[in-house]
Amino acid sequence: MFTYSQKNGVQYLEYSRLIECNGVTHAFCTRWGGVSKGRFANLNFSVSEGDTQRNVAENWNILSNAFNIPEDHFFTVKQIHGDRILIIADNVPDSHDPGYDGIITNKPGIAIGIKTADCVPIFLVDRVKHIIGTIHAGWKGTSLNIAGKALRILVKKFASKPEDIIVTIGPSIGPCCYEVDEKVWTAMEKDPDRDFLFKESRKAERWMLDLPQANQRQILRAGISSENVTSAGICTSCHRDTFFSHRGEGGQTGRQLNFIMLQ
Ligand SMILES: [Zn+2]
Repeated sequence: MFTYSQKNGVQYLEYSRLIECNGVTHAFCTRWGGVSKGRFANLNFSVSEGDTQRNVAENWNILSNAFNIPEDHFFTVKQIHGDRILIIADNVPDSHDPGYDGIITNKPGIAIGIKTADCVPIFLVDRVKHIIGTIHAGWKGTSLNIAGKALRILVKKFASKPEDIIVTIGPSIGPCCYEVDEKVWTAMEKDPDRDFLFKESRKAERWMLDLPQANQRQILRAGISSENVTSAGICTSCHRDTFFSHRGEGGQTGRQLNFIMLQ
């Protein structure tokens, strides 16, 4: 079950089975609880579309205080819509470049985060070996099977057992609002579920793509059983009162943070 909660005014979505995992803190932040204004109102974590450094820095400070996690324990990456995954196993890298769209770690005390505004945020938790991951999957990352790739890393590099892994898909744009063109249809040509995932749109040569479902199916194909994969089923574009939505707000908007940490 997904529920909305808040800490010191920071509003976020959380999932019951991750709350029950011993030693894991997580949050799919909403857009509320910060200081940004206008299109970025108000818990925005990105300066890429015009919000001020000062507001974004204050939002990090607010989040840090709300969850009682020091600011420098949050770790994000430069996201580039690819399929590279950063593994933090020994030393925490001090450079965030080049870009990555996934992070996996077995180290406690690092809150690994990804920023979204329609793309699919995914958390992976090996509840037995205590390994966590987070993924940013837009259509490009999805077409590269980034979720499947992250799960392969857990199984091959960390010797995770698929039955010990819980996968949680957060709020993203849904099939109700995600109209795509031929470029996306073609990029997904290797996906065995493509015909199921794309529905005809009212416009010619346009489709409605179910991006969270595409990721859910990749996760199932990677060997995770259906009872261990859950999707929030919340469309960011339909819920612009709660989440930033790149599509829903015509391009210029903020980014919410989705983070997970081993305590
Ligand atoms: Zn929608």
